[in-house]
Amino acid sequence: MRVLVVEDDPTISVPLREGLEREGFSVEVAATGAAALAAEPADLVLLDLGLPDLEGRVVCQRLRERGEVPIIVVTARGDELDRVMLLELGADDYVVKPFGFRELVARMRAVLRRTSPRDRATTADTVDLGALQIDRRTRGVIFAGAAVTLTPKEYDLLLRLAADAGAVLGREQLMQDVWDEHWWGSTKTLDVHVASLRKKLRPEVIETVRSVGYRLVPEVAAAP
Ligand code: CA
Repeated sequence: MRVLVVEDDPTISVPLREGLEREGFSVEVAATGAAALAAEPADLVLLDLGLPDLEGRVVCQRLRERGEVPIIVVTARGDELDRVMLLELGADDYVVKPFGFRELVARMRAVLRRTSPRDRATTADTVDLGALQIDRRTRGVIFAGAAVTLTPKEYDLLLRLAADAGAVLGREQLMQDVWDEHWWGSTKTLDVHVASLRKKLRPEVIETVRSVGYRLVPEVAAAP
């Protein structure tokens, strides 16, 4: 995941780069608007509005004109901030300096989730894995020809796993996606819901990946 950090203040960009790299992002820093517009395409842009050459809002607009890259605007406290204008310019979210690193990363992940191609691909009305079919309009689930009654969170968890069938999803990722993007704590709730889904569907449909998380097994979802 490539992040373009557009920031002229090295006391912010240097620690930010280090922190984001520790989180697994690959980071490029642009210290001017011109450098930002000349940079390689990124998966997400963090854009400081107070740049030495171009107005940040012009940079935002030009980046947006070029494509779908998610943009989080970073503004200094006290800057006149017109949220509607930012959104009209194409920003996906904004944070106000000084911001907490954890909060920023949570916002980044939330924006990436909202805008990722995978999410777009699964905004189709149904997820059809063969025997397992999920109708997103009605939140209805059919498994091996029979309707399955799920609680709202069981449904959300199943949909998250099924939307990325076969992939190993980390426990914390699942907690953040299904329960709360700002969640940090016990994952016992997750285990309880997985156990319940296994009971209602079939135990083999969700595989435990030791010390990592869970995956939905496409072969079982296709033909239990
Ligand atoms: Ca600045």
